[in-house]
Amino acid sequence: MTGRIFDIKRYSIHDGPGIRTTIFLKGCGLHCLWCHNPESIDPGPELMHWPARCTRCYACVKACPVPALSKDQSGAVVIDRARCDLCGKCADACLYDAMQIVGREMTVEDVLAEVEKDRIFYEQSGGGVTLSGGDPLVQADFAAALLDACRSRGIRTALDTAGRSSNGVLDRLAAKADLVLYDIKCLDEARHREFTGVSNAPILENLKALVAAGREVWVRIPLVHGVNDDEDNIRQTMALLLSLETVRQVGLLPYHSGGLDKARRIGQESQFRKFESPSEERIAAIEAAFREAGFDVRRGG
Ligand code: SF4
Ligand code: SF4
Repeated sequence: MTGRIFDIKRYSIHDGPGIRTTIFLKGCGLHCLWCHNPESIDPGPELMHWPARCTRCYACVKACPVPALSKDQSGAVVIDRARCDLCGKCADACLYDAMQIVGREMTVEDVLAEVEKDRIFYEQSGGGVTLSGGDPLVQADFAAALLDACRSRGIRTALDTAGRSSNGVLDRLAAKADLVLYDIKCLDEARHREFTGVSNAPILENLKALVAAGREVWVRIPLVHGVNDDEDNIRQTMALLLSLETVRQVGLLPYHSGGLDKARRIGQESQFRKFESPSEERIAAIEAAFREAGFDVRRGG
């Protein structure tokens, strides 16, 4: 069995306890307009071009059999994405990593070979492996196989999810993980639809069901000014979490605009929007409010 992975990050300290290896799977059920990893949303491979790395040698243009590459009047490489069939020949030809196919097929064994390199760090720090994305629920069978393989080797796991599943997929994967990192965007239904493209109702129901099933859950909240940093939303979010007695870990993830650069590199800038992070003062106030309510708060995950 293979899965489509777009990144593997070693020595991660923000995706669960201890030192971890985070496996980023492609595909997501939401389309958040502020997404930090826009290349994660489409489950298929994508061609990414890095103009800052490009030396304008045009090896890629020559290598493209379609052709789907050309240069514009300024000499910059232009991709005709409607014609590109993602064969990857341009990426092979580029000596500067300025063309990349994002999303490579890997077997469970391929991923485990990476994971095993840092076993000693997991053991010493109480860390392990985190499946993230995108959302691992989109590649559920592969994610299940990976979680099983880690467990059989004694490696602890976390599942980082946006929770959009109506068919038992989340329950199945959560039962195979030691911890669930669960994203909550905002409590207002209309606003959630506007900024993520989907309803928050099944997401909130799934969170309650996970907790009722006794899973260990840490909640993560991206903080985006004008979307979810207002008093009302923070109060409602806190009330929800207080009603879920076993949820006591909250991660706050302030917005940063790095996702827009990535969106540009995959030709999808128009699908995303620039937002602002809440002010440092506002973030500190939100952090303090959660602490006062009894939560263990981490910034950045
Ligand atoms: S091969 Fe790489 S460095 Fe050369 S023009 Fe293409 S993208 Fe730029
Ligand atoms: S992936 Fe293939 S078709 Fe697309 S631009 Fe590169 S060489 Fe051309």
